[in-house]
Amino acid sequence: MREVGHTQEPLNAGTAHSARVYDYILGGKNHYEADEAAGNAMVEVWPALPAHMRANRAFMHRVSNYLARERGIKQFLDIGTGLPTSPNLHEVVQKTEPTARILYVDNDPIVLNYAQALLDSTPQGRTTYVHADMLDPDAILGSPEFRDTLSLDEPVALLVIGILHFIHPDDDDHGLIQRLLDPLPPGSYLAATIGTADFAPEEVGRVAERYAEEGMPMALRTQAEAATFFDGLELVDPGVVQVHKWRPEPDDEQVNDADIAMYGALARKP
Ligand code: SAH
Repeated sequence: MREVGHTQEPLNAGTAHSARVYDYILGGKNHYEADEAAGNAMVEVWPALPAHMRANRAFMHRVSNYLARERGIKQFLDIGTGLPTSPNLHEVVQKTEPTARILYVDNDPIVLNYAQALLDSTPQGRTTYVHADMLDPDAILGSPEFRDTLSLDEPVALLVIGILHFIHPDDDDHGLIQRLLDPLPPGSYLAATIGTADFAPEEVGRVAERYAEEGMPMALRTQAEAATFFDGLELVDPGVVQVHKWRPEPDDEQVNDADIAMYGALARKP
């Protein structure tokens, strides 16, 4: 286990942040009044928001469990990790594969401050955290933590979950994912969730307006646009579907289709 240094960057407690709004809606404790106010305003315009966010988190649990259990994946690169929310990725996969190694990445200073909770790896495995921006893949790929945690001789699962709606096409969204996938060996995987207004355009549009007002403009994508993130890869069944329809399990929360504004998919690098 490694110590995580405290950041010098200001936490901006007076401004809402995506990680803290998500934490607030998921029922966590690591957020400020500004995040509660922003979250409440969003739930007011779209009451399904909490169910939608829980479904995204549940997809992360199912897809990572599937990768460890069914595909034998032992290495995970998680971009846009979010505040620790148990079970975290390493808790899910190390249950099946105690030697699993996980590199967590986020660019929010508050996530860095709480990252210690992500580092309680099994003794046989390893978890590390890098404070870096997805917009700068070289900072991730060139970090000592990347080199020390992940072996490029074995497949790695790249997780890009609940973050692509903050990455705009103008930022070369596809190129960023490509650069992160490039060094990973054949047999690696991309798991992603992609925000959409396909099912509740008015409500989701209003939530997007609120996020934009808080300084977090959103990129929402159609199903066809979501699918292009997996071009050149082999989609695992059932392909690109709303997150709650991806390999659901019997004890999953029951939701209405219109309440889930997120596509999810898993694909293998040939
Ligand atoms: N992956 C987690 C958390 C999603 S919340 C889950 O699905 O449950 C989205 C996270 O992405 C936040 O923690 C936010 O800080 C982070 N994020 C947003 N833009 C980012 C960027 N450009 N680089 C790195 N992290 C980013």
